[in-house]
Amino acid sequence: MFSQPDRARFLPLAQLHALVAQLMQLGYQCLGPAVENGAIVMRELDAPDGLPRGLQAEQAAGRYRLTRDPLNRYFAWANGPQAIKPQAFAPKESLWRVERDDAGALQFAAVEPAAPAQAIIGVRACDLAALALQDAHFLPAGRRDAHYAARREQLFLVAVQCAEPGATCFCASTGDGPTPTAGYDLALAELAEGFVAVAGSAKGGAVLDALNLSPATPQQIDAARQQGQAAAAAQTRTLPGRNLREALMSRLEHPRWDEVAARCLACGNCTAVCPTCFCHAEADEPALDGHSSRHERVWDSCFGESHGYLHGFNVRSDIRTRYRQWLTHKLATWHDQFGRSGCVGCGRCIAWCPVGIDLTEEVAALTAEVRS
Ligand code: SF4
Ligand code: SF4
Repeated sequence: MFSQPDRARFLPLAQLHALVAQLMQLGYQCLGPAVENGAIVMRELDAPDGLPRGLQAEQAAGRYRLTRDPLNRYFAWANGPQAIKPQAFAPKESLWRVERDDAGALQFAAVEPAAPAQAIIGVRACDLAALALQDAHFLPAGRRDAHYAARREQLFLVAVQCAEPGATCFCASTGDGPTPTAGYDLALAELAEGFVAVAGSAKGGAVLDALNLSPATPQQIDAARQQGQAAAAAQTRTLPGRNLREALMSRLEHPRWDEVAARCLACGNCTAVCPTCFCHAEADEPALDGHSSRHERVWDSCFGESHGYLHGFNVRSDIRTRYRQWLTHKLATWHDQFGRSGCVGCGRCIAWCPVGIDLTEEVAALTAEVRS
């Protein structure tokens, strides 16, 4: 976000609401951080000045607690359990419906997805990187997913540089944060007196122009840049490399898979919170009238028993093979599909694992011999 410093603007704290008001005026439903069940999630703002201040989240393996930010900032919280994934890839939706007409013939009809114009305020660099991976899965040439595409096209993304990464974050290690570098319409870095703001798209540029802001000073840009560098340096978790394909695929029979399987509950939390997981299941839901049904798509998890079921037998009948499938797909075979790893270092799977399984720890143990 600092590649063209002459285009950076300065948004005073007192004018943050003007940015939200501008987005609302343009017809966007604005989503921002909100506290729900003790965690930060993205919810619709009911007023331009509705963004909460002073929230922070203390995170560790299997632990997430909200705390107060002593500096009362708007965006001092690291990510919550919900990425922006649900805004493009719906957790549950109807793809098509079928009805039996009076003559007894089946009539099929597509279900048009609800796709409101949404502006999401507070998107993190890791989640932008994850969205790019979701795009690669759902929008490849020749097999574009119409439901995903309809919602994705309507998103306006206001990214924020992380100033206070969670203890579970390792986006610096994967190369995906903490400074947003691509995929946003606007990016902000929060300083004591306001925000360094840059546009990343023509839509973002128009919003910024309408706010009529002063250019950011070199000192403000420098402070914002240093904030990103400090946030990267504060991260303590890492992965041993960005391409672990060979390291992991040559260790498919490593005893560590048994050790982690003994702790893993196969609950699927890690896949539900992961911003890059895209597995889904499809099923028909018949209506009680006996004349119609809807074809539903729902998020699925490779930790579920049915995920590996193929024509009469299960190729992953135990937790060891399911955990191995998850980790080796995410960090190894994802390279074959998308040319990079499927992990953006958000750390959610670590914080939201009920037994505190930490993939950075598992990878370190699995690859130790390979690396030495
Ligand atoms: S594997 Fe874990 S750390 Fe990596 S992107 Fe998914 S949830 Fe985030
Ligand atoms: S690794 Fe943790 S979150 Fe994932 S399935 Fe196992 S117990 Fe659940």
